Amino acid sequence: MSEITAIRGMNDILPGETAYWQFLERTVAGVLASYGYGEIRLPIVEKTALFKRSIGEVTDIVEKEMYTFDDRNGDSITLRPEGTAGCVRAAIQQGLLTTPQRLWYSGPIFRYERPQKGRQRQFHQTGVEAFGIATPDMDAEMILLCARLWRQLGLVEYIELQLNSIGTAAARAAFRTALVDFLQARVDLLDEDSQRRLHSNPLRILDSKNPQVQAVLDDGPSLEDFLDEESKADFTRLCELLEAAGVKYVVNRRLVRGLDYYNKTVFEWVTDKLGAQGTVCGGGRYDGLVEQLGGKSTPAVGCAMGMERLVLLLKEQGVAVGAPTVDVYVVAVGSEAERIALVTAEALRENSPICILCCTLGAAVSKAS
Ligand code: ATP
Ligand code: MG
Repeated sequence: MSEITAIRGMNDILPGETAYWQFLERTVAGVLASYGYGEIRLPIVEKTALFKRSIGEVTDIVEKEMYTFDDRNGDSITLRPEGTAGCVRAAIQQGLLTTPQRLWYSGPIFRYERPQKGRQRQFHQTGVEAFGIATPDMDAEMILLCARLWRQLGLVEYIELQLNSIGTAAARAAFRTALVDFLQARVDLLDEDSQRRLHSNPLRILDSKNPQVQAVLDDGPSLEDFLDEESKADFTRLCELLEAAGVKYVVNRRLVRGLDYYNKTVFEWVTDKLGAQGTVCGGGRYDGLVEQLGGKSTPAVGCAMGMERLVLLLKEQGVAVGAPTVDVYVVAVGSEAERIALVTAEALRENSPICILCCTLGAAVSKAS
């Protein structure tokens, strides 16, 4: 009979690798606790409508990356393709938004993408969300906690912060019109992907990795010129706060995010050590989402980090993660010795947090045969 294998793009994480994960997870939990964030545990499956309404109908995620099924009752459900929507849903449903809330969660995320290094179909994110604070000091805190995390992980020198403001929905709509007019006149210079986006989601063209498309954009309209006064002032303030805290950043006026719900500040943490899959964390402000999902208007900002990419960086940069080692081997020969070995090992474990591996001769023989 043929062997049953895992689903493409959904990887096993083996014991040799879990030391990196555990190091990452405990460092993340420690840093978030030090900023007063509380962990929230959310379902992996939600109603499909939640993601359609929040992420946006004409985004890559909703158009082609979601794992969507009908359950036995015929209701459409989706394996979460990101965490913010579920977190906002829970915060509204559980009545958490009467006061400011700082929340975080971690777990698997599913997107039907082309698997490659740093890109899986099941991957893991840690998401951080802060609700109820509209001012840029909140954006600054979100960025500072990431910077602290990279420092504690030993990765700070490999990760660069890119920042932008995408303004209000009205500012983006005006920019979108100017951008489409400009690109329509040069449509032959665009690649197929950008031509498709010109009609569905033109702002994403700014994100294109194609140098020819980027060269066309050089002469095009700039989002900065369309920003409203409040977004501009908030962005200036955020930059001041980051400078005061000693966090380096690069302003990337073409940084837009792949989900529709963002406004004002957006940011990405990017490394050049992982090839094309260089973004290890992305986030921004999403002041309209709570209301869009049926809650009371509540400002919010958040970010999500890609855990696989952080693990890859830890490994590739040779960061010491305190991999478990065996402190004591207990080798016993014969049934009486085995009995004593078992009891002695238990007594040793009682007194100190060391790793004791019992190897009885019986086990060794059965392994060899
Ligand atoms: P990318 O541009 O690399 O596709 P994204 O903008 O789609 O990223 P987000 O939705 O912002 O990603 O998700 C936050 C983070 O999750 C990313 O910065 C990345 O580190 C990680 N991530 C996203 N998609 C994948 C994937 N398919 N496999 C592994 N990690 C991923
Ligand atoms: Mg993506």
